[in-house]
Amino acid sequence: MDNTPGISAIEGLQSSLFFETPEEIYARVYRELRPRAALPDLRVEFRRFANADSFIRLENGRLEVRISDLLAGAPAPVMEALAHILLGKLYRKPVARLYAHRYRLYLNRRDVRRQAHLVRQIRGRKFISGPQGAHHNLEEIFERLNVQFFDGLLGRPQLGWSRRPSRSMLGHFDPSHNAIIISRILDQPRVPAPAVALEYVMFHEMLHLRYPVDHQASRRRVHTREFREAEKKFPQLKEAKEILKRL
Ligand SMILES: [Zn+2]
Repeated sequence: MDNTPGISAIEGLQSSLFFETPEEIYARVYRELRPRAALPDLRVEFRRFANADSFIRLENGRLEVRISDLLAGAPAPVMEALAHILLGKLYRKPVARLYAHRYRLYLNRRDVRRQAHLVRQIRGRKFISGPQGAHHNLEEIFERLNVQFFDGLLGRPQLGWSRRPSRSMLGHFDPSHNAIIISRILDQPRVPAPAVALEYVMFHEMLHLRYPVDHQASRRRVHTREFREAEKKFPQLKEAKEILKRL
């Protein structure tokens, strides 16, 4: 039996002081960023996204926030940091480094990364075209480079062409699907033979396979020094970069 008079009062005090709903967090951060503006209606929802992305928009005077359910269990200070980031983006206010850093640290936590990786694998269906393009075969290129630069020791991931001929993303290595995807824009007959630009992009992505992303620091280091040094071994590096610039 517990009828100590103080207890429930203290619990009530604690919950109002230490527990905020996501909506309350967004309302508080909103007032901080825009002290003179009226607080709009706001709704915060957790969605089953394939990654940790979150979205905010203002529609008909209502703030809609959609957060990846990967963050549903995040501690309140992380939610607060994300609120600063999203509201800052929406209202074009600079985000204090403290918040950006706190949020990044959380996403970089080993357990969070593992969870994100699993979710991407399960939810992120990925279309992978297969190695044969209209003019080039990615498997041939991969194996040729594998022998030339990696003693043939690199395990071959899935290889495919992007759906659209992207100029901004010429290639990427996706560790969740163990796949290298090359932009279809490089599948051209006019890419000079030997297709230096295409080979360079493939070589670059193979280096990502060889040198995984460095998660040591709070900031992901994608192109480590080791990576950059290895990249210089590509004999026509300059020529390839020139061709890519002119694409
Ligand atoms: Zn890269």
